[in-house]
Amino acid sequence: MHVETVPELKVKIGLEVHCQLTNLKSKLFCSCSADYRDSEPNTHICPVCMGMPGTLPVLNRKAVEDAIMIALALNMQVSSRTLFYRKNYFYPDMPKNFQISQYDRAGGVPIAKNGYVTLDGGRKVRISRLQLEEDPGKLVYEGTIETSKATLVDYNRAGVALAEIVTEPDITSPREARIFLQKLRSILEHLGVSSGELEGSMRCDANISIEGGTRVEVKNISSFKEVERALNFEMTRQRSLLRKGLCVGRETRHWDELRRVTVTLRVKEEEEDYRYFPEPDLVPILISNEDVERIRASMPELPDSRKRRLMEQYGISMQNAEVLTDNKALAEFFEACAADYSRPDLLSNWIVGDLLSYLYDMGLELRQTKLTPQHMVGMLRLIDDGTISGKIGKEVLKEIMVTGEAPESIVKARGLIRISDREYLERLTDKVFEENPKAVKDALKDEKAVRFLVGQLMKLTEGKADPQLANILVTKRLKALAGK
Ligand SMILES: [Zn+2]
Repeated sequence: MHVETVPELKVKIGLEVHCQLTNLKSKLFCSCSADYRDSEPNTHICPVCMGMPGTLPVLNRKAVEDAIMIALALNMQVSSRTLFYRKNYFYPDMPKNFQISQYDRAGGVPIAKNGYVTLDGGRKVRISRLQLEEDPGKLVYEGTIETSKATLVDYNRAGVALAEIVTEPDITSPREARIFLQKLRSILEHLGVSSGELEGSMRCDANISIEGGTRVEVKNISSFKEVERALNFEMTRQRSLLRKGLCVGRETRHWDELRRVTVTLRVKEEEEDYRYFPEPDLVPILISNEDVERIRASMPELPDSRKRRLMEQYGISMQNAEVLTDNKALAEFFEACAADYSRPDLLSNWIVGDLLSYLYDMGLELRQTKLTPQHMVGMLRLIDDGTISGKIGKEVLKEIMVTGEAPESIVKARGLIRISDREYLERLTDKVFEENPKAVKDALKDEKAVRFLVGQLMKLTEGKADPQLANILVTKRLKALAGK
């Protein structure tokens, strides 16, 4: 059966996002440095995060403040009393054989509940809970998981503070899941609590069901970029099962990033039994209204208010303001350029249009290119003063991103300066008219053929002719012919 012949069934997606609080200096319950990324394995460990007998965890106060800040930014209710639970499981990534986490059942209360994120366009995705927990260590394989002779464990990450953010199944497509995550990332980056640019700092699990089907969980989605891909695969798989009259079984599947498929990890009838119980080594956390209000007062500007400010302050369109503020680095780049450039609407078009599509094509983040605000503004000024055309500007921009060279030197070195030498262009116009007699004849009757002649002139100059002047010269020449 062909896939598109059956009407689309509705999709429901919920996400469970894990964000490392990357601004913290130490782990969640000990003083080991949380900045482990460039370190040798197992060098950021101590008896506490290794769970040695006789050690006691001490809660990182700043982590709680960060979590409250996230909760407020996600419009959540902050709990006045919350506590930690032990989630018991045997797996080499946690040397203690349990993870200190939070729980929302059996008397457990997460740090915050019931919030939402408003997507551009106004749709809301409800957030059911936010909790603090420790990150497990990392299992490392030599080669692939199948061929590796041994599993190596690096505990540098074990105990790093994680904020777990769980949504209701309000998301209606894989694409919307990506848009939600982009917005969430922008909020966390504006708060300064988590940087999505660091490898593995934001990970997510998803649950997805098709109308009339069963909920399937998808694990091991290593980056936000993979989410849309994994969910698209899973959506198609479930739809084709339902169309064949087969059942979607309740199970947990694993996203295989290399093969780009989901595979069965475990089929489960019920939730796994982690024997959750309150962590006996930590006292409950009491959060007063004063604490919450103090943190609320210290909150930085968030994407939504920044969006409104960019529209008011710079007069740019809502669409551009949305794209800019969905990516903190892009918004900052725009403002750095705008401080030195008098046409912010034009600037925003360049950033949201050309710059963003080059980044997408190159698969890079802005900071991974060599583009600076000075060079961006320099390139735009070359267009404004007529040195280069807008079309050449695009080429120059691409080259700056790769080489980091100043736009003026790129233009000089590559001979890209716009040709507005009238005599020279007149000579070329003669040549175009000589070589295209039929087009000239047509152009005397048909406007469209005029454009063809101008195009030929532009081609002769490799796009460097001043397009306005080229137009004038061709039209003038045609008028002279018509008058004869
Ligand atoms: Zn430690």
